Amino acid sequence: MVKTPEEIELIRESSLLVSKTLAELAGHIKPGVTPLFLDSLAEEFIRDHGAVPGFKGYGDFPNTLCFSMNSAVVHGIPDNTPIKESDVLSIDCGTIKNEFYGDQAFTFAMAGVSDEVLKLLQVTRKSLRLGIEQAIVGKRVGDIGYAIQQFCEKQHGYGVVRELVGHGLGKSLHEDPEVPNYGRRGQGTKLMENMVLAIEPMINLGTREVVSAPDGWTILTRDGKVSAHYEHDIVVKKDKADILTDFSVIDEAIKKNKNLQEIVEQ
Ligand code: MG
Ligand code: MG
Repeated sequence: MVKTPEEIELIRESSLLVSKTLAELAGHIKPGVTPLFLDSLAEEFIRDHGAVPGFKGYGDFPNTLCFSMNSAVVHGIPDNTPIKESDVLSIDCGTIKNEFYGDQAFTFAMAGVSDEVLKLLQVTRKSLRLGIEQAIVGKRVGDIGYAIQQFCEKQHGYGVVRELVGHGLGKSLHEDPEVPNYGRRGQGTKLMENMVLAIEPMINLGTREVVSAPDGWTILTRDGKVSAHYEHDIVVKKDKADILTDFSVIDEAIKKNKNLQEIVEQ
């Protein structure tokens, strides 16, 4: 599960390309645009940068992006439904470059979302940071999940999805260990220097329960309420995790797009 410094730099390259892809998409999101259009932009952008989409063909997934709107939690298939004001768009994207994966998700809010929904996104984003703060040598996987769960469930009353989890990352998209967004302090796999993890809280406004859509891919909240998803790829280090993906390029693009709401941690 531990990567060499050389491998880490290759994963960093793939991860940063995902961040840049999400930032590129953020410049094009507006009412009337379709997920399939954004999907084609993402694929072109990734290929133009000497990489290939990481999700397309993975377990027969048909597209470059997992595009999960509103009550969709994850694994949504991009379609021709035009984006509307007040929509919540969770976009998850993967790349493969030099044989290594990058994997990052960001939930965008169209201008006009309710304060209740905006807060869910702000809290979920902050929970990711709190989880990453636990990703240091000597801690365990359960410490990451505990931090996320306490903040989202205990402090804010949101639903923490149990069925889907974060993961190790490398030449495979999903490597050991699994990184749940719930857990017990001091439990689970011990974190070692240079383990690469994708940490990805999936947090629901209402119930934590989810159901599968008839398309066989999309995971939806059981109660139809909104869900949020933020993901970073990180390297476990002694004092502070090294974050391989980058939200700042996405935030910059959001600031320049009046159709999108800024997501500031709460
Ligand atoms: Mg992902
Ligand atoms: Mg992932």
